[in-house]
Amino acid sequence: MSALRVVSFHYTLRDPSGRVLDSSAGGDPISYLEGAGQIIEGLDEQLRSTAVGTKTRVVVPAARAYGERDPDQVQRVKRALLPVDGEIKVGDQFQAGHDRHAPVVTVQSIEGDDVLLDGNHPLAGVDLTFDVEITAARAPTQTELDHGHAHGCSDGGCGCSH
Ligand code: ZN
Repeated sequence: MSALRVVSFHYTLRDPSGRVLDSSAGGDPISYLEGAGQIIEGLDEQLRSTAVGTKTRVVVPAARAYGERDPDQVQRVKRALLPVDGEIKVGDQFQAGHDRHAPVVTVQSIEGDDVLLDGNHPLAGVDLTFDVEITAARAPTQTELDHGHAHGCSDGGCGCSH
């Protein structure tokens, strides 16, 4: 087994219809510690040991990305119980609690006074295509290994606040 690296890369993420879902273009590359769960598992695995400068397309099946859709994650709630002022539309998303890490739910349908909320990740059940360019790779520091994530992102977007 080769040593784990801190890898930086640019990516454009598309769904199976080719629609762009997300991209790092125009911003800083994303950095992650290999094997630490900082990016989706299927992408991490397929980029392992990829050389700096490599441009590649990685297709990650839903099961290795955000998982398959779980019908049990859809629940019916009373409209009046939702923490939302004003109108609710199909497709609206909000957090199902006050915690910053509370799961995001999506309004799937509205039936009278009831709202069907889908607790699946918006990308559950979607096969993801990443066009990736590896821009840098280095050995992790001991601190990064201890923390289990890469340090040094410029905007704090890595979720590491120190
Ligand atoms: Zn840290």
